Amino acid sequence: MERTQIKYVGFIGLGTMGRPMVKNLLSRGFEVVVHDSVTAAIETLVNDGAVPAGSPQEVAARCEVIITMLPTPADVEEVVLGKGGLIHGASPGTLFIDMSTIDPFVTRKVAAILAARGFRMLDAPVGRTSIHAAQGKLLIMVGGDVADVETARPIFDALGDKVVHCGPVGSGVVVKLVNNYLSTVTAVVTSEALVMGVKAGINLETMLDVVTGTTATNGHLTSTFPARAFRGLFEPAFMIDLAHKDLGLALGLGAALNVPLPTGAVCREVYTQARALGFGRLDWTAIIKVFEDLADVHVRARDTAGR
Ligand code: NAD
Repeated sequence: MERTQIKYVGFIGLGTMGRPMVKNLLSRGFEVVVHDSVTAAIETLVNDGAVPAGSPQEVAARCEVIITMLPTPADVEEVVLGKGGLIHGASPGTLFIDMSTIDPFVTRKVAAILAARGFRMLDAPVGRTSIHAAQGKLLIMVGGDVADVETARPIFDALGDKVVHCGPVGSGVVVKLVNNYLSTVTAVVTSEALVMGVKAGINLETMLDVVTGTTATNGHLTSTFPARAFRGLFEPAFMIDLAHKDLGLALGLGAALNVPLPTGAVCREVYTQARALGFGRLDWTAIIKVFEDLADVHVRARDTAGR
């Protein structure tokens, strides 16, 4: 398949990330055949010009390249290998691109089963959030053959502004777990520190003035928290439930490799606590609410009603 020949792209998983990604593919002129277990998610995109399909198998029968953007490893296994799954409808040579954040051992297992049937696979999880997905500015981490990466390049160019080829299939997900281990753990320590400062009587702006100018700075202080938590807004760009899942996947990878991850193990329990408090479907910056509730303070920007 020449890269210029891709016309029909299948897309399964039309949620927070999948929906804007499909819109970007449509705006670049791809014909996109879509499926989701939630019918309303399909209908929304059909109104934007996508073609509906009743099952993953039906998507595969119509497309040469198929993207999955699903929550968990079990969802990917079901959609690819299960009853009515992609594998039952695809023709040899079909390229599967899993862009979900899942367990790299599952990625490699699925890729091996697909390869035995003459199909190709890339794992291409994404960095950044749904805001970047809408802007076509995702960071895409890819595992798989160089030739397949080149085949997929026009698709990646429609979805992101940076593509990093990380190695053979499964490598993209490993790098994604390294990334999300760092970012989910950093969100916890960022929350703890700011809540301590506010409880001690210091305002947020003063703290930011200092900590964003030293080695203490990080993307939560400059980007994710200002967009959401500091304004008292917790509509999800990335959900606590998914952050909890990703930290669990990283801990599983560490355990399988005998690499201890003690800081992450503690932080995962903070995400578990957030879910127990009912914050699971809120933005991941709502992790600060765990500490705010305990300390009975709010860390909010001056120009918001929440201060
Ligand atoms: P989401 O829950 O908003 O969307 C997932 C979609 O998949 C839903 O529409 C759901 O109905 C559908 N789905 C689930 N199981 C299905 C099945 N068996 N068959 C068909 N459809 C099914 O999740 P999201 O935020 O879009 O995240 C998707 C993936 O992207 C996750 O692996 C997540 O970790 C990763 N990710 C998310 C973000 C983010 O900012 N939201 C950023 C980077 C990576």
